[in-house]
Amino acid sequence: ASPMPVPALRPSATDGVFAAALNTLVLEREIRSGVADGQFEMHFQPIVRLASRRLAGFEALMRWRHPQRGLVPPSAFIPVAESSGLIGDLTGFALAEVGRVLPELMLGALHNPRHIDGPLFLSVNVSGHDLAAASFPQMIADLISQTGIAPGSLKIEVTESLLMKDPERAAEALAGCRRAGLGVAIDDFGTGYSSLSYLSTLPVTTLKIDRAFVRTLLVDQTSRRIVQTVLRLADELEIPVVAEGIEHAEEADLLTEMGCAFGQGYLFGHPAPLEAAIMTIREWNVVDRSLQAKAS
Ligand code: C2E
Ligand code: MG
Ligand code: MG
Ligand code: MG
Repeated sequence: ASPMPVPALRPSATDGVFAAALNTLVLEREIRSGVADGQFEMHFQPIVRLASRRLAGFEALMRWRHPQRGLVPPSAFIPVAESSGLIGDLTGFALAEVGRVLPELMLGALHNPRHIDGPLFLSVNVSGHDLAAASFPQMIADLISQTGIAPGSLKIEVTESLLMKDPERAAEALAGCRRAGLGVAIDDFGTGYSSLSYLSTLPVTTLKIDRAFVRTLLVDQTSRRIVQTVLRLADELEIPVVAEGIEHAEEADLLTEMGCAFGQGYLFGHPAPLEAAIMTIREWNVVDRSLQAKAS
């Protein structure tokens, strides 16, 4: 017998409105049962301090281990979860999972203290929809009280575009996070309808420059100017910056020269399940990550 057909995850241009709607319904149902079945998991990607190329922390990134579709990236299910009201369940899972594994992740990384620069943090993505939910502050408070996590070691990442949908509500929720001691990072900075004014009103502790700018940094003068401008602005506001999507040593070196404090990308490590993420740090080869300019 042939296997059951699995509908495409994302509607193609030729699918039509009906097929797209059907896809969304199928996905919604599958997300719901996937949460119940424990099909979701968190992977962890290292974030380094660029000056030393040592570990500063991790970002937790969600994956869906689907029984038929395999490992599904968040771009294929987060938007549906957001539009169907299921995102709260996924965020609840993410926060609980992060709380559960944080001690193990930190201890595992500390096994190789030569590779660590400063107190380690863990960043977790939340949706703008979560920030608007009345239950969000309690979710954060529960995480801290139930796990005994040092709030300073946790950061909430939220994308710029979703913040702008309800800026006042978001500002309130983020202020709550800050009061609880958590860090607040603006994700994908530069890609949304950036309103620079919110940087002075929101309690932001980190800016993450989107991969789109890093990817073109070496070849595109405009990207370089934008990154330079963001770095200057952040410096004025005394907000540290993380550059996302660093794949090449030359990008890391240039960003270091430009004064960017933190870097994240395949050059330093891919997102990986807990055990693998810990192994990456233990086996990190400092020479591989050292400044190319200095090495040559
Ligand atoms: P993000 O928060 O900006 O995460 C960075 C994305 O860039 C991740 O994609 C990561 O795997 C990818 N990345 C990191 N370094 C490199 C690199 O060097 N090259 C390339 N090409 N990509 C790199 P991922 O894991 O597919 O996540 C995509 C987005 O989905 C995230 O973007 C975030 O907005 C969202 N997301 C992920 N996990 C969660 C979650 O638990 N909750 C919510 N609400 N959103 C999540
Ligand atoms: Mg993020
Ligand atoms: Mg990002
Ligand atoms: Mg992104």
